[in-house]
Amino acid sequence: MSTPPVIIERLAIIGTGLIGGSLARALRAAGGVTTIVGCDRDAHNLLQALELGVVDEIAADVAAAVRGAQAVFISVPVCAIPGVVREMVPFLAPGCVVSDGGSVKAAIVAECEGLMPPGCCFIGGHPIAGTEHSGPAAAFATLYQGKRCILTPTVNTDAGAYDTVSRLWQAAGAQVCCMEPGHHDRIFAEISHLPHVVAYALVHAVGTADVEGENVLSYTAGGFRDFTRIASSDPAMWRDISLMNREALLGSIDGFSRSLAELRCRIESRDPQGLAEFFTIAKQFRDGIV
Ligand code: NAP
Repeated sequence: MSTPPVIIERLAIIGTGLIGGSLARALRAAGGVTTIVGCDRDAHNLLQALELGVVDEIAADVAAAVRGAQAVFISVPVCAIPGVVREMVPFLAPGCVVSDGGSVKAAIVAECEGLMPPGCCFIGGHPIAGTEHSGPAAAFATLYQGKRCILTPTVNTDAGAYDTVSRLWQAAGAQVCCMEPGHHDRIFAEISHLPHVVAYALVHAVGTADVEGENVLSYTAGGFRDFTRIASSDPAMWRDISLMNREALLGSIDGFSRSLAELRCRIESRDPQGLAEFFTIAKQFRDGIV
């Protein structure tokens, strides 16, 4: 059997948590990268990434991490990404490709593309894979296997740089597809960001509900746990996503509020046919995706 080709020699990963750590593990397993250097503001996470073999080397700061790297992957909460890019710019090697895994794209791409020095290229990315867990100990090599990774190139994107990022994700097991950044944000406001805020809101409402002084949450069973799993995700990550995709998310929340109001109305008016129709349509959508 032939050895898989090395795509790049040196990759820097800024943010060695679930997303960055899983990319590191997947690329190591695929033999796509020779050396992976990690950098993280959380000293415990960084040391753990080294001890667990997620990265080969660790760097004290972003400048040291990116020196000599052909590619840099940024996997920190979305509001921190432009700041990390600003920090690395003076130290990027000529021809370096910088990409990210942030869940919001338009604002990040608009800002980070413009920060790149001549010869370097920023390409936005978002792997459509994850769990509610954080940190390097949660990272695993198969996270991206068979999952989509969306890249958001623009008219300024260098074809060779795009090819490098695309091959790295493919080596990690992902199916790469392309999307305009704003379109990405509107789609993921509906399909990812709305479900997370609804899950947080539901747990918040039930957790603070007062039913004759009972602790309502002590009665949770499978349904409540299934529906609210994602409310165990990192609050800082979801704070950032909500703020950065504010406009699109507000639109999605309004759409959801209309849907909930419609359902409430059918319950209030004791409308058995209307309720059955509403639930049947939703069930058909849900059955269609599983
Ligand atoms: P994570 O497991 O919490 O890892 C992020 C790491 O980055 C943490 O160690 C964090 O340290 C560190 N960090 C935060 N700000 C930093 C900075 N300015 N410089 C250097 N390191 C910094 O988070 P994750 O789940 O991997 O998420 C990373 C990115 O992937 C986010 O942009 C998110 O939107 C995106 N994403 C997540 C998922 C998912 O399901 N989790 C899926 C797709 C995309 P602290 O502990 O000190 O904060």
